[in-house]
Amino acid sequence: MRDIIVIGGGASGMVAAIMAARKGARVKVLERMQRVGRKLLATGNGRCNISNRRLDASHYHGGRPEFVSNLFKVFGLEQTLAFFGDLGVCVQEEENGKLFPASQQASSVLDVLRYEMAQLGVEELCDAVVHSIERGRSGLRCVCGDGRFFEAESVIVCAGGKSSPNLGSNGGGFKLAEALGHTIVEPFPSLVPVRLDAPYLNQIAGVGLNGRAEVWVDGKLECEETGDLLLAKYGISGTAILQLSRAVSECTLRNRDTQLRIDLFPSLSKAALAGLIHDRIEKMPGKTTDFSFVGLIHKRLIPILLKTAGIENAQRPCGDLTPADVDRLVAAMKAWTLPCCGTQSWMFSQVTAGGVDVSEVNPETLESKIAPGVYFAGEVLDIDGDSGGYNLQWAWTSGAVAGSCAAAAMREQ
Ligand SMILES: Cc1cc2nc3c(=O)[nH]c(=O)nc-3n(C[C@H](O)[C@H](O)[C@H](O)COP(=O)(O)OP(=O)(O)OC[C@H]3O[C@@H](n4cnc5c(N)ncnc54)[C@H](O)[C@@H]3O)c2cc1C
Repeated sequence: MRDIIVIGGGASGMVAAIMAARKGARVKVLERMQRVGRKLLATGNGRCNISNRRLDASHYHGGRPEFVSNLFKVFGLEQTLAFFGDLGVCVQEEENGKLFPASQQASSVLDVLRYEMAQLGVEELCDAVVHSIERGRSGLRCVCGDGRFFEAESVIVCAGGKSSPNLGSNGGGFKLAEALGHTIVEPFPSLVPVRLDAPYLNQIAGVGLNGRAEVWVDGKLECEETGDLLLAKYGISGTAILQLSRAVSECTLRNRDTQLRIDLFPSLSKAALAGLIHDRIEKMPGKTTDFSFVGLIHKRLIPILLKTAGIENAQRPCGDLTPADVDRLVAAMKAWTLPCCGTQSWMFSQVTAGGVDVSEVNPETLESKIAPGVYFAGEVLDIDGDSGGYNLQWAWTSGAVAGSCAAAAMREQ
């Protein structure tokens, strides 16, 4: 019997442990929290967006996004659904290909993973914070902060990134990898609310919109997304913003000029919007300018958009607006520009971009090229996905590959 230690009982760690144990390894999971799977319970607002029907490499980022394609050939969507199907989890598809357990409960995913680990004799050791991985005479030794140590032939580092440290992953995996000689691509938060630099945010905090948001970097369009936008005292969040936040996070970190442009009426051309406004003015020329927009624009946004368009006297009749005033208003409504000054902290981020440089990891087995016998899986690697189930899918795929390969390598010895 050969031993494998999995550091981290998160999504990738539990799958790695199951796959290694199924191949006959004796597996211990060392978890720093009081219980495994804390983050998994919080995923998908407690519903666990387990994967995505539209899985392909275009949804991944990092040093080498093509790295994921080969691994998906081994353990992709089909294998993931079969894996969970065998454990009893049926999935349901929602918008944009998102897959959720039919139970709508993240806890059910955790329950079946833990049940399978128990069936296979995987040992869960909680409150075990691994501080170092050392090479001993008989293999590798994981030393915990409280002095306990555990030995094994192989170690799979599944310690996650730095996002939402209250749920377990606090960057400890990067330190373990760095101490072994690995390069860590500078981590930054992704899938995180964006901070904006605008004086009027207090006035519009809580306003929800549905529009198109674009990220402009050094005067060029970087990426765009249509969907929910939610203004807040610090800036903005919502599904569309989370998806764009990676670009904002990286570009503001590198001190590049980063702006958000919001189109409040993405389905209308500029000419159509101008026509709509002129019609309203014609119908009710005596209304004050600000009141004439009630019913078209969120009331709290009206004074801000008027100011942005250089219309100072909101109390004058809207019939006094000139065609040039309307054009400037249309420009403000179609490209409301807000400077970005960063993102919310790690505490509010769902995913970590950056991590262990994948060029230092065997692309087929996920074994370290620097420290033989050490494997990596999940968010600790420099791979991150879009929102929509792609990050958990990476955790399942990389965990399955690392677990199987670590166990298979020991059998070959
Ligand atoms: C609120 C929230 C919602 C999310 N929702 C979704 C979603 O619906 N769909 C999706 O695809 N993705 C989602 N994600 C992202 C997804 O949860 C992560 O990408 C995924 O959990 C990463 O898996 P992992 O195993 O690499 O790391 P983690 O799940 O973070 O697990 C790492 C584990 O390692 C442990 N650990 C860390 N350091 C040590 C150490 N030194 N010693 C011992 N143990 C250690 C941690 O305590 C933790 O349990 C969400 C993330 C958050 C925060």
